[in-house]
Amino acid sequence: MNQVSFPLPKTQTIQLFTQLNCQQKAEYYQQERGKLAAPFLENGMIIGMKRTFRIEKMVGGGGFGQIYSAIDSESKLVVAVKVERKSQDSGRIVLELNILVQLSHSPHVPKVYYSGEVGAYNYIVMQLLGQNIGDLRKLQKSRSFSVLTTARVGVQCLEGLRQIHALGYIHRDIKPSNICVGIGEHKRILYIVDFGMARRILTSDGKFRPERVYASFRGTTRYVSVAAHERKEQGFVDDIWSLFFSLLELAEGLPWRSIVDQDQVLSCKRQMLKNFQSRKMGRNFELFPHILENTGRTEHPDYDRLIGILRSCCENFNELTEFEWDDH
Ligand code: ADP
Repeated sequence: MNQVSFPLPKTQTIQLFTQLNCQQKAEYYQQERGKLAAPFLENGMIIGMKRTFRIEKMVGGGGFGQIYSAIDSESKLVVAVKVERKSQDSGRIVLELNILVQLSHSPHVPKVYYSGEVGAYNYIVMQLLGQNIGDLRKLQKSRSFSVLTTARVGVQCLEGLRQIHALGYIHRDIKPSNICVGIGEHKRILYIVDFGMARRILTSDGKFRPERVYASFRGTTRYVSVAAHERKEQGFVDDIWSLFFSLLELAEGLPWRSIVDQDQVLSCKRQMLKNFQSRKMGRNFELFPHILENTGRTEHPDYDRLIGILRSCCENFNELTEFEWDDH
């Protein structure tokens, strides 16, 4: 979908909205959604105290925040600014900042440069990334990625998740739109974004926090694990379940892509997992959910084995070639 005209037809708005890429969503927010989603910051505005940044334009809009590109006045480098309303749920952006800072050693998480508040908003200045792989998939003619691209995405995300999990956190919203490609010299690196739904599941002495009898739903219906559907306490493995469903979507699509009802999506997932076969990724990939099924909530997943499985899905796995979207 290249050309979007506003307003979207009312009856199809929600369905069409989910098909827009990030920039189109941002435009939609700017033009159509009135007061609620009017841009938080204006183009050209200067934010920051010790360091200042000039807002350029909105590059993405999520459920809560808006992402702008901006220029660092000192270095003249282009950065990203994630902005959230203070009143909404300030905890989200504070949590996100805290986790991003702790993960500053990770090559699969954007670097944080600065944070602050402006009027009614909190913001984080971070490394500017490229498009998310959900949008990139939609730009492919076949609306899917090759086995090699899918495996590379999987391997990098497993490395990223290993680092996030090592700090005792689970992300709880792994999905293609929360995985972005790097730009410039980082264009072959994938980044996990949006830690607003993360949760610490280990105590300071490395033990698992006690299980709650009922955990409220967290995540995105299309990608959450069966355990998350069942409102069970999530563990490290549940992030990897979401990665598994994301990879399946990238390579060959999900049977429940147009189903909205959570219970129906859950029964489709259960049905598929009874006898999982992959049309495109091959027999080895079929071991992936099998390993996850045998990983308990309070276990550390076998990242190396899962990475080995993904690498074995391609005859010539390598991370040095251009990604298939590079010529867009
Ligand atoms: P929310 O918390 O509101 O859901 P996200 O953090 O998920 O917001 O960001 C929404 C979208 O903005 C992402 O899908 C991604 O495409 C884009 N985005 C997020 N972080 C960056 C970044 N650092 N650079 C460029 N684009 C980004």
